[in-house]
Amino acid sequence: MARSYVAEARRRGLGARRRRIGPIVERLAQEHADAEIALAFGSDVELLISVMLSAQTTDVNVNRVTERLFVKYRRPEDYLAVPPEELEQDIFQTGFYRQKAKSIRGAMRVLLEEFDGEVPRTIPELLRLPGVARKTANVVAAELGDAQGIVVDTHVRRLAQRLSLTREEDPVKIERDLVKLVPRADWHRFPHLLIWHGRRVCDARRPRCEACVLEDICPSSRVPRPGTRGTP
Ligand code: SF4
Repeated sequence: MARSYVAEARRRGLGARRRRIGPIVERLAQEHADAEIALAFGSDVELLISVMLSAQTTDVNVNRVTERLFVKYRRPEDYLAVPPEELEQDIFQTGFYRQKAKSIRGAMRVLLEEFDGEVPRTIPELLRLPGVARKTANVVAAELGDAQGIVVDTHVRRLAQRLSLTREEDPVKIERDLVKLVPRADWHRFPHLLIWHGRRVCDARRPRCEACVLEDICPSSRVPRPGTRGTP
């Protein structure tokens, strides 16, 4: 289970977080100029399916499966034209394949019945699709060009806590804190920046603080300060 850094954030105080958000975004944007969604898709429907399949597995694994899947299933109707068991087999390697197949078929049915087969743009509409929760809706809306919130995954949660941008544990409450701090223009790229920084530098178990561009403004830095005994 991921370690909580909330107690640490509380100890260090949150008063300066508004002043730090600008440098945090700027430095991470320079450091991870290539930060973007790692899922491969060629249409809005493929984006939706990819994000739905990505629950509890890696983006690499999803891309491996969808490379074949998207050749066979080109339109929402195609997911409903095969027996459920066939779709289950086709997405088997992403895990939780029964539930995912059921959600995908349900979502495709609602797309066809209520949205003319097009992926809707707003969070409330996206949440009407079976199997689509807030995180999936946020990712899809942002990738379609209109971020309406900030995606909170395990990396975003950990980094937001370490950087003292939130005191919360619950993803919905963390998102509520982040949207108050991060300028709307950055809502799309901000989670990508934290995700890539989390993967490359701020590892869950062994953050490489000595190599981190945020080291001097991060309350959780483990680099010893002059006059201290070192790691917290
Ligand atoms: S200084 Fe350390 S804890 Fe803070 S963001 Fe960088 S790697 Fe993470």
